[in-house]
Amino acid sequence: MKFGTKAIHAGIEPDPSSGAIMTPIFQTSTYVQDAPGVHKGYEYARTQNPTRTVLEKNLAALENGKRAICFSSGLAALDAILKTLNPGDELISTNDLYGGSYRLMNSLYGKYGIKFHFVAMDNMSDLEQTINENTKMIWVETPTNPMLNIVDIKAVCDLVKGKDIQVCVDNTFASPYLQTPLDLGADIVMHSATKYIGGHSDVIHGCVVTNDESFADQLQYIQNAAGAVPGPQDCFLVLRGIKTMHVRVQRSCENAAIIAEFLDAHPKVSKTYYPGFKNHPGHAVAAKQMRMFGGMVSFDLVDGSEKNANAVLSNTHLFSLAESLGGVESLIGHPASMTHASIPREERLKVGLTDSLIRLSIGIEDVDDLKNDLAHALDQI
Ligand SMILES: *Cc1c(COP(=O)(O)O)cnc(C)c1O
Repeated sequence: MKFGTKAIHAGIEPDPSSGAIMTPIFQTSTYVQDAPGVHKGYEYARTQNPTRTVLEKNLAALENGKRAICFSSGLAALDAILKTLNPGDELISTNDLYGGSYRLMNSLYGKYGIKFHFVAMDNMSDLEQTINENTKMIWVETPTNPMLNIVDIKAVCDLVKGKDIQVCVDNTFASPYLQTPLDLGADIVMHSATKYIGGHSDVIHGCVVTNDESFADQLQYIQNAAGAVPGPQDCFLVLRGIKTMHVRVQRSCENAAIIAEFLDAHPKVSKTYYPGFKNHPGHAVAAKQMRMFGGMVSFDLVDGSEKNANAVLSNTHLFSLAESLGGVESLIGHPASMTHASIPREERLKVGLTDSLIRLSIGIEDVDDLKNDLAHALDQI
């Protein structure tokens, strides 16, 4: 089955009790047993829920994986993955990763004796030099947030082949429609399904997909033992969002390409970050590992002050000033004060994340209206 068909059909059957074509929301905490230990595979809803089971089967198919495990948020999914590590273990991550992931790793897991390194992974030699005998996991985010750097997933996997090191890819920015890391050799894929997978800005949700059965068993154990499970209504919303993911993401990408060209040519824009540009340092790798170049665009201003950034941020009407991404509506954000406020300023500046950097999540509105909205906002500087 190809992607668009899997999005709508994989793992999904009409409800056997009624024929309902849509997966029911099994809003229940427990299941009645015929006799002690005799049940239909469902005992208690932290452990299993039929709405969640359908979603997990569907997500596994979309990432070309064997198993998916769902969580109450993207960070709960990362949290479960980090719980598989032990004190003394080391994890190497991309250096311009999602601010919340950085916070969870450094501030919370750092104190449990796990060591984190943050390196620029668009340069393989930095990564190679950081690997040592305690390295247990490599955390890849690509395209990165908000600088839209590209990491070569296959090159990272090849580098650690044969070593006891797991490669995990946060695939949130690409979505499984654009990029399937397991096919490139990654061991684990993680998503904030809050973004492109859900796609309608109406649910917080996370998932992990893998082909490694024993790792999946560990995660399922953690899912039940720690209990950060999504509710059935949230699973339903994600399932519903997935049915249009390929159409939504395709349109977002088409719009983003047009917006990126527009910004690049604008006299008040000093730099536009978009992996679809031929002169973007990660363009060739992106073209190889992604189906299209994504719906995210970041840009900086010629007179790069926070005041000018604020003028743009507060004068768009269609682009809403908000955190998050990947919904049908376009969003505009200021990473320095919003998503990346928990990262120290010196660290931010090192990767080009200035006080005037603006990040766009391009939605699926009419692109002419989006362009006019940005043109008007840039005129206010
Ligand atoms: C949003 C996001 C997360 C965190 O997901 P939540 O669902 O908000 O917990 C992790 N990684 C990336 C790249 C994200 O964009």
